[in-house]
Amino acid sequence: MTHSSTTTDPPVEIQTVASPSDDVSYRFLGQQLAGSSSQWVTHNHEDEFVLPGGRCSACRWTSVDIYRAATRIDGQPFNDEPATSGPLGKYLVVTSGQTIVPGEQTFVRCVWTNSPYEVFEVLTQRKNGRVSLPGPAARALSQAAEYDDGINDAYVNRAVA
Ligand SMILES: [Zn+2]
Repeated sequence: MTHSSTTTDPPVEIQTVASPSDDVSYRFLGQQLAGSSSQWVTHNHEDEFVLPGGRCSACRWTSVDIYRAATRIDGQPFNDEPATSGPLGKYLVVTSGQTIVPGEQTFVRCVWTNSPYEVFEVLTQRKNGRVSLPGPAARALSQAAEYDDGINDAYVNRAVA
């Protein structure tokens, strides 16, 4: 599989990914292969925020980012930033549930893996025997497949569409 000549690989640069739930911030040299969000610009309600149990993708949304680490750089000092750690694998998959509704908390999950197939697995949802890839996950994977041969192979051979 050859890459399309119309796309340029994302730049290799210092990436900072905070995982508040793990109380850690990853800082590493690498590329952001994909970034996708289900956020809408406009609200679908008249109140300032969506009512409990309601759905509004301008109030709550999910985002998926995929990074590919290039080099270990942990151990180096970086300004006065909080505790940092370097890459724990080749790929970093960041999924987050974002919210602007007061009293609700944004959730961030960071998963490191060396396997492009596991990148898929992390983003795959299984519910009642049904397997699916939510919209932002599917879009992020298709973006990453453009730049990474391993993810492209996994994408071509994926079990779910
Ligand atoms: Zn809203």
